[in-house]
Amino acid sequence: MGQIDGFMKFPRHGAPLRPVGDRREDYRELYQEQSDEELATQGARCMDCGIPYCQTDTGCPVDNLIPEWNDLVYRGQWHEALSRLHETNNFPEFTGWLCPAPCESSCTLDLVENSPVTIKNIERNIIERGFDEGWVAPATPAPATGFKVAVVGSGPAGLAAAQQLARWGHAVTVLEKSDRLGGLLRYGIPDFKMQKFRIDRRLEQMRAEGVEFRTSVNVGEDITAEELRAEYDAVILSGGAEKPRDHDVPGRELAGIHYAMPFLVQQNKINEGDTIPEAERISAEGKHVVIIGGGDTGADCVGTSIRQGAKSVKQLNIHAEPPEERSEKTPWPEWPHKRMDSTSHDEGCERLWKVYVKSFEDDGTGRVHKANCVKVQSAQRRPDGTRELIEEPNGDFDLDADLVLLAIGFQGPEKGPLLGGLGVELDKRGNATADPATRMTNVPGVFSAGDMYRGASLIVWAIHDGRHAAEGAHRYLMKQKVAQGLKATAD
Ligand SMILES: Cc1cc2nc3c(=O)[nH]c(=O)nc-3n(C[C@H](O)[C@H](O)[C@H](O)COP(=O)(O)OP(=O)(O)OC[C@H]3O[C@@H](n4cnc5c(N)ncnc54)[C@H](O)[C@@H]3O)c2cc1C
Ligand code: SF4
Repeated sequence: MGQIDGFMKFPRHGAPLRPVGDRREDYRELYQEQSDEELATQGARCMDCGIPYCQTDTGCPVDNLIPEWNDLVYRGQWHEALSRLHETNNFPEFTGWLCPAPCESSCTLDLVENSPVTIKNIERNIIERGFDEGWVAPATPAPATGFKVAVVGSGPAGLAAAQQLARWGHAVTVLEKSDRLGGLLRYGIPDFKMQKFRIDRRLEQMRAEGVEFRTSVNVGEDITAEELRAEYDAVILSGGAEKPRDHDVPGRELAGIHYAMPFLVQQNKINEGDTIPEAERISAEGKHVVIIGGGDTGADCVGTSIRQGAKSVKQLNIHAEPPEERSEKTPWPEWPHKRMDSTSHDEGCERLWKVYVKSFEDDGTGRVHKANCVKVQSAQRRPDGTRELIEEPNGDFDLDADLVLLAIGFQGPEKGPLLGGLGVELDKRGNATADPATRMTNVPGVFSAGDMYRGASLIVWAIHDGRHAAEGAHRYLMKQKVAQGLKATAD
C-alpha cells in the first residue's frame, strides 16, 4: 500500500495541462510532466482497500494491479512497477494517455471525497519512464510451435493479440488495410491526445519479437477468405466497428457535410507529413463548424476544428445536459452518469443540449450554409434504432453551418466480403459474435476481438479482448498439436 495516512495528508493532483492559448496552436500532447516526488506523493494516497474496486469488474477492464504499482511508485521502485504493469497490459502507454479511467471512478477515494488516486497518470508515468530508461525491450518468444496465425486489423485489439501469440511461439502476421499501422490509435484519435511515435516504438518492439506486419492489404478483397483459411491455422478478426451512423435528413447530400472520421483522419495524415489533394480536403479553417454528436469523437472534432482555425465551433447533443456530479442512478463504484468535459471543450466551443437537426440549408451553390434545429423535450431510441422525438413548442432555431461533422456513433463492422466470406455469424447489432469464454466465432479457428466483437468501445477493452482472443486461439492450436501428435503415433 502507499503511505498509511497518505490519503488524509495529500490532496489529489493530476498532471497539469498546457495552457489553452498555447495548446490551441499545435497538435502536441496536452499533459505536462510531474516530478518523481509529486508522483510518489500521489501513489502514497492509495489506501490498501480490502477490496480494491479499481481492479474489479466495474474498474479496470484489463485487471491492472493498481494498488501494487501505486505502492511501488511511492517507494521509488519504478522498474518493478513497470514489470507489474506489463503483466496485465501490453500497452500501458495507450491506456495511460487515452483511457477514460473507469478505475478512478471505482476508487474508494472517489466514494469518500470525489478525489480518486490519479491512477491513469501514474500508469502513464511508469511506462514512459520505462521507455526513457530503455527498460521496454523485446521479450524472447517461446520455441516456435509451427503454427501460423493471421490477425486482421492493427488496432489495439489486433496488436495485443499479435504480441501475446508471438510470445507464445506462433508465427503471427498482422494484415492491415490502411497504409499505416495502429487502427484508430493512428487514424482517428488526434495527435494532441497521443502522439504517434508512441505507436511506432511499440511496433518496433513487436517486430523484434517476430511479428510480421503487412499494410495496404484489405482482407476479403486482396486476400480472399478462402486463401486466408488455407494459409493460416487460426485467424483473429479485429477489424473494428467502422460503419458510421448517418443523419439522414433533408439537405444531407449538400457539400460540406461529412462523417467525423475522414475529417479526423486527414488531420492525422497531415501531421504524418502527407498531402491531401485540395479537392478532397475537409478543413474547418475560417468556417462555422457544427458537430452533431456529444461524445468523444465529437469532442475530438472540436479540438481539431479549433486548431485548424474555425470561426466558431458548436457541438450539439440530443440528450439533456448530465449533472455535474455522479447521478444517483449510477452509484459508486459504477461508471458515473455525469457531464464529461474533454480538454477540447475548454479550448473554445459552445455545447448545446437537447437539440435535434431537422434539415440543412443550401447557400445557393450546393454547399451547406445553415442547420435547422429544434429543441427537444426527449429523444428516446426505439428498438429499431430510430428516435421518438418530442419537440419543444416554438423550439425551432437555426445555426450558421459551413462545415457539419457527423459524430453520432458507429453501427458495427462493415459487412464486407471478410465476414461474409468466412461465414461468421453476427449478433443483432451486427458484431462478429463469439463464445465469451474462448472468443471463438461459429467458425472453428476464427476468433474475434475489440470493436468488431463488442461494438464501438474503448482501447482498454480492445486490449482486454485481444488478450482473450489470443488465449482462445493458443488453446485451440495447442489442442490441434495434441491431436496431430496422437494421429502421428497411431499412424
Ligand atoms: C475519434 C475517436 C476517438 C476515440 N478516442 C478514444 C479515447 O480517447 N480513449 C479510448 O479508450 N477509446 C477511444 N476511442 C475508441 C477506440 O479507439 C476503439 O475502441 C479502439 O481503437 C478499438 O480497437 P480495435 O483494435 O478493435 O479496432 P480499431 O482501432 O478500429 O482497428 C481496426 C483496424 O482494422 C483494420 N481493418 C478493418 N477491416 C479490415 C480488413 N478487411 N482487412 C485489413 N484490415 C482491416 C482497420 O483499417 C483498422 O486499422 C475513440 C474512437 C474514435 C472513433
Ligand atoms: S487501463 Fe484504464 S481503467 Fe485500467 S488502470 Fe489504466 S486508466 Fe485505469
